[in-house]
Amino acid sequence: MVEASEDCCVKVAVHVRPLINEEKLQGCKDCVTVVPGKPQVQIGAHSFTFDHVYGSTGSPSSAMFDECVASLVDGLFQGYNATVLAYGQTGSGKTYTMGTGFKDGYQEGIIPQVMSFLFNKIEIETSKHQIEFQLHVSFIEILKEEVRDLLDPSSMNKPETANGHAGKVNSPGKPPIQIRESSNGVITLAGSTEVSVTTLKEMASCLEQGSLSRATGSTNMNNQSSRSHAIFTITLEQMRKLNSPSEISLNDTMNEEYLCAKLHLVDLAGSERAKRTGSDGLRFKEGVHINKGLLALGNVISALGDEKKRKEGVHVPYRDSKLTRLLQDSLGGNSRTVMIACISPADINAEETLNTLKYANRAR
Ligand code: ADP
Ligand code: MG
Repeated sequence: MVEASEDCCVKVAVHVRPLINEEKLQGCKDCVTVVPGKPQVQIGAHSFTFDHVYGSTGSPSSAMFDECVASLVDGLFQGYNATVLAYGQTGSGKTYTMGTGFKDGYQEGIIPQVMSFLFNKIEIETSKHQIEFQLHVSFIEILKEEVRDLLDPSSMNKPETANGHAGKVNSPGKPPIQIRESSNGVITLAGSTEVSVTTLKEMASCLEQGSLSRATGSTNMNNQSSRSHAIFTITLEQMRKLNSPSEISLNDTMNEEYLCAKLHLVDLAGSERAKRTGSDGLRFKEGVHINKGLLALGNVISALGDEKKRKEGVHVPYRDSKLTRLLQDSLGGNSRTVMIACISPADINAEETLNTLKYANRAR
């Protein structure tokens, strides 16, 4: 059985990307300072301290994985669910940080690092113990409070739709994907594709496939702007055979221990305000819905992070959005959560950067 973890469940890290060429060409200045040797970041007169801060210089790209994510993958083997969230405005580096825009051979992002760490650990565990592992992945996105299956085989290789998005719509005739909660609180996605994988290559190919079919749309901020939350989920099941003679009982089922845990890797929708994307009509509605998920997430995480509130049993508003509903059994309780706030150092983004830091600060 899983026991309650002693330390609190939400860690917050900040990832400051370097100025990109586009910004340099516009003559942007770097307005974000990472305080050396401290997990602290300064912008204008504001200063924030987080669990970790990763700047564009100094730390190797593996540091974030080692310090923030590796323990979550380890936790899966003890049955703890976990969630990694990348938050920030469009263009701040969420997809880069998570590795959701995976292309074969690209190893830097968090998801590719999770995959190699996971398969490595499975190999070590199976060589030491009598243990059987099963892995499943799903990859969905939430757009306008609707869940879309990014691994739906029947929507692959479809011709592009009128507005240029391939494989974006769930197959016709398929019932919509539903978020369900079982009596023991386990959340499942009814109707989404779960791919059983046995090798790193198979898992990487799911990531790549789903990344390709992820919906993107153009706004005047960034023509690859993401308006959806993309969620790559790895489920680890294990059957451990208890092999010491004293452990063998008369009842066969007593000889096995079963554990199941999942890790959600979430590339959130851009956090910029709808007004900044020049939105109207349809796009505006999407903006409002995206904000609904991010707003609910902020409220859930801040309720979880507040120990006093938690002890008083204050209501955690999971039901306010599809995003928080889906993550419900993997945020709070025995689960571990890491939020990575991604920011651009450019002075033209200062206002959104400050908003991101405030949002992340509320999560602590
Ligand atoms: P988002 O997903 O938040 O919209 P992206 O991940 O697409 O942002 O990043 C925007 C741009 O910045 C891309 O061109 C990406 O390659 C670049 N970028 C992001 N993070 C980094 C980084 N840490 N180092 C170098 N380039 C980066
Ligand atoms: Mg992105």
